[in-house]
Amino acid sequence: MSLTGNVVPSAPFPAPIAFCGCEMLNAAAGLSPPAQPHGHGQGHAHPRRREVVVNGKRVKTIDVHAHCCVSKAMALVKHPLEAPGLLMDDTSTRIAAMDAQGIDVEALSINPYWYRAERDVAAELIKVQNETLVEFCAANPERFVAFATAALQHPELAAEQVEHAVKKLGFRGVGVGGSVGDEELANPRFHPFWAKCEELGVLVFMHPLGTRALEPSGRLDGSGLLTNTIGNPLETTIALSHLIFEGTLDRFPGLKICAAHGGGFLPSYANRSDAVIRCFPNRVGPLPKKNPTAYLKDGQLFFDTIVFTPEALRHLIAETGPGQIMIGTDYPFPWTSTEVDLVLNTPGLNDDQRIAILGGTAAKLLGIK
Ligand SMILES: [Zn+2]
Repeated sequence: MSLTGNVVPSAPFPAPIAFCGCEMLNAAAGLSPPAQPHGHGQGHAHPRRREVVVNGKRVKTIDVHAHCCVSKAMALVKHPLEAPGLLMDDTSTRIAAMDAQGIDVEALSINPYWYRAERDVAAELIKVQNETLVEFCAANPERFVAFATAALQHPELAAEQVEHAVKKLGFRGVGVGGSVGDEELANPRFHPFWAKCEELGVLVFMHPLGTRALEPSGRLDGSGLLTNTIGNPLETTIALSHLIFEGTLDRFPGLKICAAHGGGFLPSYANRSDAVIRCFPNRVGPLPKKNPTAYLKDGQLFFDTIVFTPEALRHLIAETGPGQIMIGTDYPFPWTSTEVDLVLNTPGLNDDQRIAILGGTAAKLLGIK
């Protein structure tokens, strides 16, 4: 199938240009025409909200990969601010970016920086952080929901934190790193946490923290920001592979995990994980109940759309399924500002599947009306 007539430029461009320059593309894709300021001489007017429409139906778009921070929680362990855009004191810039990109709702998450904190500090930090996340969302309930945070290094405490977050604070999801200190998420030590997430039916958003064990070797030094460029998807690949091969997903069949950055490298090369079972049967066990590739499709694993091109998203969907994919933007980090167009321009999807990816699946999983 030729894709050339339907491909958006893969290089991210500033949101206002994307907003103003895509009328024909939007019309072809069934989008409502972008709202423009009336009259002339208002070239720098604030862009109005892009409303995404598929086949005449307004779609509520939901971004499951959007970062923020809580300063007073960070202060408890003297964690530095990584980017000013993480702050939620003034959300006008963030909401303007959402409006320009056609994102209706962000599901906010915080990359875990507290996994080495002692129990008392971790308990206080998570309490402050989750309560503040509730305030962020309450200030703009139409635009923000959030993943709760938890101190996984203390698994029993983390299970209590997620229970409190869901039952008392109203969260429907929880965020985790791709590792906890030097430990894998598949370590049986974390079973109480996974059991609680399964029991509560919360969506777990898993975001990598880089492959820090590799960094002292210097192999990720030099050009290319490789600690992030490949270190992050590599950590996701390792974490998912362990969750599959160590039987964590078998033990908790109701667990639902959304992996950032399209699941890292795993969906691009998943058949090797099936092949190793055939090729080295004496070295590969104990084995999970299913072939590893089955776990990508069977409803426990979800993936965001941050894979950059329609062909990459088409392949991710081929390996996982349209029902396993949700929009991610990585805001405020400038990896992409065109995820809505990416979904609209990915070949082989019907309208219902596009609507599910744009927001339908996330709405169901996160209880967004
Ligand atoms: Zn991210």
